[in-house]
Amino acid sequence: MEREAIKRVKVLLLDFDGVFYPFTTDFHAHVNQAAARAALRLGVPLSPEDALILAERSYAALGSSVEAFQKLYDLPVQDCHGTFSEELNPTVVEALHVTAEHLMMCPVEKAILSHGSRAWIRGVLDRFGLNDLFPDSHVFGLEDLDFRFKQQEDGAVYRHVLDRLGTTAEGTVMVEDTLCNLPPAKGLGLTTVYITQGRPFEPAKHPYVDHTFVDLATFFDATFEPLAR
Ligand SMILES: [Mg+2]
Repeated sequence: MEREAIKRVKVLLLDFDGVFYPFTTDFHAHVNQAAARAALRLGVPLSPEDALILAERSYAALGSSVEAFQKLYDLPVQDCHGTFSEELNPTVVEALHVTAEHLMMCPVEKAILSHGSRAWIRGVLDRFGLNDLFPDSHVFGLEDLDFRFKQQEDGAVYRHVLDRLGTTAEGTVMVEDTLCNLPPAKGLGLTTVYITQGRPFEPAKHPYVDHTFVDLATFFDATFEPLAR
């Protein structure tokens, strides 16, 4: 799909973490500490120091601070996700990469599709005064996806969300900062946008990516017209 055509699609699906705000060193540390605290609350038999080390290793190896606890200690995904979410503090997000004006200048219906929890997404949006721009029907946290992940090869998560929003794959764009989440979207026929956050990107290695932008503000600025003043 040509970039110009994006503004005529029906729905823009936006990943949340890493798209609405950039990851910082402090944010990574906070996430690992939250995962370690959650694991201890769930009864994982480790010292606080060892729990933090496992959280750090889990993040480095699996891209998730909680996944290693879940696998090694056979913790139910719902408990892990819920407790971890409670331990996260939205004030650790210092700034968003998008403003209310960016969101309002975009005439396309917007929804959030995230592996974070609904409470986390709402907490961060609330901190920046953006909660009213996303009705409940347009916020999908992991618990709304039956704890399935976007990278699932059959695209089940995307199909579920398209059905809920009453849209088609062809009429939908997915904006994402995690590459492995995009092949199933492309496979179903969605247009894919990769947010690089400044990381190097070789298009030839990722044919399932249609467009790249450094951050969400740049995507909105390049794609939609500014509001008339
Ligand atoms: Mg992300």
